Amino acid sequence: MISVKGYGATSKHSEIAALSFERQAIGDFDVLIDILYCGVCHSDIHTARSEWGAANYPVIPGHEIVGKVSQIGAKVSKFKVGDLAGVGVFVDSCRTCDCCKKGLEQYCEEGMVPTYNGMYRNSTLKTYGGYSSIYIIDEKYALHIPPTDQLAAIAPLLCAGITTYSPLRFADVGNGHQVAVLGLGGLGHMAVKFAASFGAEVTMLSTSASKEADAKRLGAAHFALSTDPAQMKALKGKFDFILNTVAATHDMNKMLDLLKIDGKMLLVGIPPEDCKIAAAKLISKRRSIIGSMIGGIAETQEMLDYCAEHHIVSDIEIIDIKDINTAYERIIKSDVKYRFVIDMKTL
Ligand code: NAP
Ligand code: ZN
Ligand code: ZN
Repeated sequence: MISVKGYGATSKHSEIAALSFERQAIGDFDVLIDILYCGVCHSDIHTARSEWGAANYPVIPGHEIVGKVSQIGAKVSKFKVGDLAGVGVFVDSCRTCDCCKKGLEQYCEEGMVPTYNGMYRNSTLKTYGGYSSIYIIDEKYALHIPPTDQLAAIAPLLCAGITTYSPLRFADVGNGHQVAVLGLGGLGHMAVKFAASFGAEVTMLSTSASKEADAKRLGAAHFALSTDPAQMKALKGKFDFILNTVAATHDMNKMLDLLKIDGKMLLVGIPPEDCKIAAAKLISKRRSIIGSMIGGIAETQEMLDYCAEHHIVSDIEIIDIKDINTAYERIIKSDVKYRFVIDMKTL
């Protein structure tokens, strides 16, 4: 075992504070990544605070990890020492079920192994995330990071990026589509960039009037305040797709009204409380809601390569690890522009 420094939560009420924990020794197929940057996802907060059910403490969050490979196991072939590497939301899966075979490891029938707050397969060892100095991962589940001078801004692609890229690709979003993005936070700002890059006309639906100029700079053609009934009424039946990234409980029925016939809500936000859907909202216009969870390893690599080719990165605010609790409070107040990334040198 290797003793590792990190930051994490010891209970649902605790602040995120310095902790030591142990990782497994490096195996034949593993790479050891010295973590340089780690993005801060709203899921880190949901998990650290047990908002999705009781977490297994201590929780070391962080699943938008980028760094440099500093050691490799004897049988590693995809990476060499010195390579840039990334870790996203999961670090293993069964590898044999239909989903795994199709490259949809995130939907593994036995359950993917999450990067933190999970258990390694056939083991009593827990997974701990990227608010830490190193990660050890099977090379099959690690990502190549194309050469860059903006490494910190690439970290959020490992979750916010792939979580929005994947449903937009699945739905074949492109030229001629009217797309609304609901919620301009970490996921939302990547959704605007991708939908615009794929050729759609994007409308930002936000509760924050102050974000209009940013939404347009990110690629939205239009902006509407989702709390203003007049503005919502004017958008009734306009959209082919709504990408819903909202992290808090909200009235989805009001949003379904904005979809045209056969319109689809691509749902990625996971509010802690369930939401009631009125059947008539779907039936009256053959609308549907499609849930989507991150993306598989091959698609995540495709997304990273697409971003490198199209000069897409996340808009970030780099923070010291000691400021993580303030960052959490700002995220909850929707005051994030548009992803916090921890500089792991400050650990
Ligand atoms: P975030 O940065 O906090 O962004 C969420 C945005 O939602 C806020 O910035 C805000 O934007 C809007 N919002 C907040 N409260 C609202 C309310 N009461 N009503 C309407 N809008 C509200 O969070 P994130 O990191 O992007 O994550 C978003 C959600 O996706 C979280 O629940 C997270 O756990 C989930 N997630 C899912 C996956 C997946 O695989 N499906 C992956 C990662 C994260 P405005 O100011 O513009 O209104
Ligand atoms: Zn995430
Ligand atoms: Zn599987």
